Amino acid sequence: SKMKNGNSCSFYDPELQALLENQAELETDIVRAIAHDEFSAYFQPQINANGKITGAEALIRWHHPSKGLIAPNDFIPIAEQNGVIQKLQNTVLRDICILINELNSKQLIDDSFKVSINISQVQFNSTTLKTELLNVVNDYNVNPSNIKLEITESMLSGDIASVISQIDELKQQGFIFSIDDFGTGYSCLTHLSSFSVNELKVDKSFIDKILDKGTGFSIVQTIINLGKSLNLTVVAEGVETEEQFTVLKTMSVDMIQGYLIAKPMNFDDYLCWHQSY
Ligand code: C2E
Ligand code: CA
Ligand code: CA
Ligand code: CA
Repeated sequence: SKMKNGNSCSFYDPELQALLENQAELETDIVRAIAHDEFSAYFQPQINANGKITGAEALIRWHHPSKGLIAPNDFIPIAEQNGVIQKLQNTVLRDICILINELNSKQLIDDSFKVSINISQVQFNSTTLKTELLNVVNDYNVNPSNIKLEITESMLSGDIASVISQIDELKQQGFIFSIDDFGTGYSCLTHLSSFSVNELKVDKSFIDKILDKGTGFSIVQTIINLGKSLNLTVVAEGVETEEQFTVLKTMSVDMIQGYLIAKPMNFDDYLCWHQSY
């Protein structure tokens, strides 16, 4: 293969080689794993400034028979490339629906409770996204307004008109939209108000620096103010300390998510956590 500067890339890097072999292995394995039902959603709660549970984010995990628990960053890119991402998305959405029905039957939630699902670029661009989502939620008799679709800032680029219509069509069905990792992409701020999204999630990298007097603090405050001025709910992700939460409350953040409240939990652990919260 050729590198951008024209030099041929012929060196042997054992670490890279091992990584590529592992990738190739996972790629063939992922198809088998879907058939064996090795994927499931974990759930991480979100709370508001008053400490009330407002929802949860579903995060996929792979329970590999020999490798153990595999994190999404190690297989989502592969699933996007080889076309199985749709199947994984359906798995996660089914788990979400089962959770919502379970919480509803125990009268632990009302209609304001939202569970978010991460939508990958490939899925977002797909013309069948709406049908795929509706098929699952209808199967479980779940109201789409209980489901929040997390897309990243970078997906709000390219053909703006089709992005707007994709969002609007799904919103008409009742789904809610959140912009994930906000501040890390290069979305055009002038376009932001054209998208009828409901929520911004301030990326963890900014929350990490929030206690730095000066820039770190100002950046988070600026993002929150921007969200508020556009009438969006603002969520801070990756909140790990009480000090960060205290500062975020003074900035009028709407919700927080992070290890301070709880790590992502499997279905049973989440249910247990929610019930005893
Ligand atoms: P993300 O959507 O930004 O998810 C937040 C990540 O931060 C999660 O990692 C979560 O476990 C982690 N996290 C949450 N709170 C804290 C905290 O206080 N401290 C620290 N250090 N980390 C925290 P995870 O579960 O490994 O997911 C990584 C990424 O994989 C996600 O980033 C998302 O982009 C992608 N992903 C996860 N599940 C799915 C899925 O079902 N579908 C798709 N398409 N992507 C997914
Ligand atoms: Ca997310
Ligand atoms: Ca995020
Ligand atoms: Ca992130």
